Order: sequence, then C-alpha cells, then structure tokens
Amino acid sequence: MAVVGSELNPLRVAIIGSGPAGFYTVSNFMKIKDVHVETDMYDRLPTPFGLVRAGVAPDHQKDKSVTRAYEKSAAYPGFRFFGNVEYGLHIHLDDLRRHYHQVIFTTGSPFDRNLGISGEHLEGSHSATEFVAWYNGHPDFADRQFDLTQENVVVVGMGNVAMDVARILCKTHAELAATDMADHALRVLQQSKVRNVYILGRRGPAQAAFTPPEIKEMGEFEEADVNVLAEEAMLDVASQTLLDASQDKNTLKNVAAVQAYAVRENQRKPRQLYIRFLVSPTELIGEAGQVHAVKINKNELYMDDQGALKARATTAEEIIPAGLVFRSVGYKGKPLSDVPFNESWGTIANHRGAITNNDGSTVPGMYTAGWIKRGPSGVIGTNKTCAQETVGLMVADLAMNKHFQPTDTDPAAIEALVRSRQPDLVSYADWKKVDLAELAAGDASNRPRVKISNVNEMLELIRS
Ligand code: NAP
Repeated sequence: MAVVGSELNPLRVAIIGSGPAGFYTVSNFMKIKDVHVETDMYDRLPTPFGLVRAGVAPDHQKDKSVTRAYEKSAAYPGFRFFGNVEYGLHIHLDDLRRHYHQVIFTTGSPFDRNLGISGEHLEGSHSATEFVAWYNGHPDFADRQFDLTQENVVVVGMGNVAMDVARILCKTHAELAATDMADHALRVLQQSKVRNVYILGRRGPAQAAFTPPEIKEMGEFEEADVNVLAEEAMLDVASQTLLDASQDKNTLKNVAAVQAYAVRENQRKPRQLYIRFLVSPTELIGEAGQVHAVKINKNELYMDDQGALKARATTAEEIIPAGLVFRSVGYKGKPLSDVPFNESWGTIANHRGAITNNDGSTVPGMYTAGWIKRGPSGVIGTNKTCAQETVGLMVADLAMNKHFQPTDTDPAAIEALVRSRQPDLVSYADWKKVDLAELAAGDASNRPRVKISNVNEMLELIRS
C-alpha cells in the first residue's frame, strides 16, 4: 500500500463543522504541497459557513465577504460537503475511524453562558445567542418569539455580540431592510416599540470587550442617541495607570469614543441607547412570570493577585425597568459524543489542537480548531492561525504514522454509508442552488440576499 498522503493513498480527513475554522483547515491543507489530502466537511445544517452566515450581524456585510475565500477551498478537487448530516446522529466516531485517517472538530461554541442570578429564566429573558440566530435566519431559531412591544430592553455584557444586539434594536426599518436579515425578523423589528436600550458592562471603559469600530458605530444611528454617564466614562486611577503604561491602541480608541459620548449633546431622537459601565445585574424582577425590571449593583474595580482589574459590588443599587433582557456574556461549546470535553472551559480537551485524554495524552487521529478548541475569542481571521496550528500538528503526526487505521478509504463507501442514514444529504452543488436562489431574490429586492430559513424549503428547492 502506498504511503498515506501520497497521490495513490491520499490522507483522508473528516472535518466536523463548516464554519470559518473548518474552511481554514481546508485552505491550510491546500498550502501543503507534498501531502495529498481529501477532505469531507460535515455540517448538521444544509448551509455552510457557520457563524459567518448565522452569527455575523446582517448590517456587517463586509465581514461576510470572507466566504469568497471559502468558495475557493470548496473548489479544491479533494473537497466534499456533506450538509444536513449531524455528527452523533447520522455519523459516529466509529464510522470516521473506519473511513478516515484523521478527524478535526470545528463545531464552534453554540451554547450561551448564564448569569446565575435570580429571575434569569423569566419570560422575556433570553440569550443573545437565540436573538442573533433568529434575526440571521438560523433554521433552528426561526420560530422564536421576542416581545419587541416592550419599550425598555437591557443587554447584559460589553462584548461585540452585545453591541450587535443593541445596534439591531436601535436601527430603523430602512437601515435593516437593506441587509440580509431574515424576513421574519424584519417584520417583527418593523413593529418594534423599543425606545430605550441599556447595555450593562460590569467593568469600566478600559476593560470593555468591544472593539473600536463597533463602539464608533453606536454614535451613528439615524434615530437613536447614545448616552454615557460622565462619572462612568472617567477612568479610575488603576485603569488610567495601566493604560498610560500599555498605550494599547484599541483600548485608547475605546476609551476616547466612550468619553466623547459622555459629553455629546442629546438630539432627542426617538430611541435612546444607554451604555452603562461598572454595573452588574443582581436580579431580574418579574411580574406574573414576565421580567419587568432589572436590579443592578454599582461596582468598583480592584486588582487581583494576577494584576487584573476585576469588578466587585458596592452597596449602591438601582432598578432599570425592562420587559426584555438579553444576556450576552459569552458562549461555550457543546460536548460531542465520544470526544473528551473540558466542562469548565466549555471546549474540547486539547493541547494546541490535538485532542487529549483525561491523563493529558493525545488521542491519535483526533484534532480540533476554532472556538471549540480555544474558546469564543477573536475575530473571524483568528481562526485561520488557529487552524494553521492544528493542521501543522496533523501533518507532523502523519509523518510519524500517528493516525486512525481505516479499513475502507474509498470516498464512495463513506458517502454511501452517510446517504443510507441521511438520504437528504446536501452536497456543495446542492447548497449552491440555495445560494443562487437567495442571491437572485436579493437582487430582485435590492438586498445582498433573501435568506431561506426553513430546511424543508431548502430541500424542496434542491430537489426541484
Ligand atoms: P466577549 O467578547 O467575551 O464579551 C463578553 C462580555 O460579557 C464581556 O464584556 C464580559 O465582561 C461580560 N461578562 C462575562 N460574564 C459576565 C457576568 N457574569 N456579568 C456581566 N458581564 C459578564 O464575548 P462576545 O461578545 O460573545 O463575543 C465573542 C467573540 O466574538 C469575541 O471575540 C468578539 O470580539 C467576537 N465578535 C466579533 C464581532 C466583530 O468583529 N464585529 C462581532 C461579534 C462577535 P468582562 O470583560 O468583565 O469579563
């Protein structure tokens, strides 16, 4: 038998998850000229691109242009897409061991983190994850309901997801209608009665997790003013000292933007956005099972043993009336069957992308990349270097014969097996039919695309 990775016996790799980390795995392999590789990419949805399709905000179309690079990877002759196929349901680790030399899990972080406060599960309290997936047309979330007849909305967290959620709530129908936001969300947002949006950050402006372009956009709404309290915009001595020393460019820009908002004249626009710092929700107060206010504590910063500035509660409290609450305090991964998982990190147990057992030893043939490897951090491009690190290990392990010992590497055999379990397997060519239909509908209505958010509708279109 020819050596694994040669033209006669290509390295067969299964990629579980078709988001950025999955596609960057393919592009990194494509750069390695002396290894012949064939990649089969699985996704439980019929559509590829993960969070680029279902997470990146619809009014941030430029960020979605990375899919052009993913299209190039998909055109690679050794690439196949097996959409509408779920790991753990239609395909299992034993199957992958029989048909591939290596598997890489790039399944992202679909779960949200809780606040752990009383009232969190009242009606009207949601995770940002659900809202984002809903307005982006993720099929699993298309029928969710969000009560946008509420005038006051609280968004907890100070990262870019919180910014996305608040921005979508503050924009006008005309601003949103020009995007590829799901039609069901556009209809509900058009009727929105939201007047006041509060973003709550537990630390100060110098510790905010948002990035400069996102905070800058908050000052550019057609019909919403941005408000920051002067006393919350001012840095405490420790934050100022650390910033003076680091001169971190992003933090300097963030702080400058926040401080400019604190002195900006309010133009009495119909909507008001309040960006609050040094406050933590301590309770969601309900009435008849429905959230109607958020109790918050004023915080102060202290330096922990590692020199990090952390928030701690003071005795000052405040109540913000709100009938709708979104928690946006980070994501975590979902455990996968037969894959070692680190519960406290919410990631697959791994060392630099090689999956590890409880004793720290690596599991030959099993790898991970993206958020499920390192946690939900960084921008889309961060997954490129992340996947590069893992692919480097995969190639090094191949040279040492550390991989599965498959008994049937014929690409037709695994496809036949998958089709026997999921007759509605969606190939890349099938997805392109959906893609073209969405783009054509977009063209007809002057939008980037009109998304189909129902799996059956996609399958009917593919069959037609
Ligand atoms: P994130 O950037 O990690 O932000 C999480 C926020 O939640 C932080 O402000 C954090 O505050 C806060 N938080 C955590 N636990 C909390 C608690 N118990 N109470 C109150 N606040 C709490 O997460 P994310 O916003 O979900 O974003 C995930 C990743 O996607 C990030 O890397 C982000 O930059 C990226 N992303 C990028 C874009 C873009 O480029 N436009 C858009 C969306 C998402 P502390 O800092 O105090 O912990």
